[in-house]
Amino acid sequence: MSISVSAPAKVNVVLKVGPMRTDGFHSVASLFHAVDLRDRVDLQSNCDGQGVSVSVSGVDAGAVPTDASNLAARAVLMVAEMGEVAPDVHVHIDKRIPVAGGMAGGSADAAAALLAADLLWNLGLSRTDLDDLAAQLGSDVPFALHGGTMLGLGRGEKLTPVLTAQDWHWVISASDAQLSTPAVYQEFDRQNIEKSVADPIIPAEAMAAMRAHDAAALGAAMHNDLQPAAVSLRPQLAKILAAGREGGAVAGMVSGSGPTVFFLAESRDHAIDLAVFLSGSGETTRVHAVTGGVAGARVESPGVGAV
Ligand code: ATP
Repeated sequence: MSISVSAPAKVNVVLKVGPMRTDGFHSVASLFHAVDLRDRVDLQSNCDGQGVSVSVSGVDAGAVPTDASNLAARAVLMVAEMGEVAPDVHVHIDKRIPVAGGMAGGSADAAAALLAADLLWNLGLSRTDLDDLAAQLGSDVPFALHGGTMLGLGRGEKLTPVLTAQDWHWVISASDAQLSTPAVYQEFDRQNIEKSVADPIIPAEAMAAMRAHDAAALGAAMHNDLQPAAVSLRPQLAKILAAGREGGAVAGMVSGSGPTVFFLAESRDHAIDLAVFLSGSGETTRVHAVTGGVAGARVESPGVGAV
């Protein structure tokens, strides 16, 4: 039996970082937005009693662990434990989401693996069970399950849907180099050591712009508290942001902890023009024009004999 499930990358259209909590995580307020850059996770059951094995193909495949630390493998093991089944399964991940790029690719793989394992073993886990497992796996995993556009509070795992009128169009500039999320938060802490960090909230203007599908207003409301830290660790990001402005982007920003940079476009045609401009700018090579507000984890093919 086999099954394939895909899950999307995310950008944070707004990311506000609050004070450090007692558990060592910062509280955040995030306006999450799923984009149609999707990883695909295939599960193939086997009867060899060897447990979970992992293989990876696609973008940055060599940077993804294939041992028990792989987030998709951890997700499969958690579902097996909850469903009391033997976790004899091969996990293949086909990556399109840049690794350690601030687009939550590992979280997408975990979300896809949760859904795939539930379907492969026909467990019928409830949405609440899947959400609970997702939140244990990581702050961004619940959003990758749901997709669309959502407000995330807490560590990002407490989600509320946000109304959006239509599709949004973006250009993603991925980086060959990676940035570690903990390193960016450490730099954020260093830069803000003298300041009192307020409790994070998403400005009403950003929600209103999403609802009204007002690109100029959304561009004005885009904000990422981690951007100064990411740019100071990777000064090249400032050049990419400048190239996007020169190319006519409505707005541009670092995604999450970076180093991916994303730009708002007015339409699909505008996004393609901007992607062409950025590709020729010499500042960035891995450029994608993508649609935003897309579905979360979804079945791509049920495979032979699967549910
Ligand atoms: P976040 O912002 O959620 O920390 P990110 O998008 O910056 O994530 P990821 O691509 O999720 O980064 O990868 C972060 C690290 O997680 C990688 O460096 C890798 O070692 C580890 N990892 C574990 N499982 C996976 C996976 N399935 N795909 C990618 N990375 C994984």
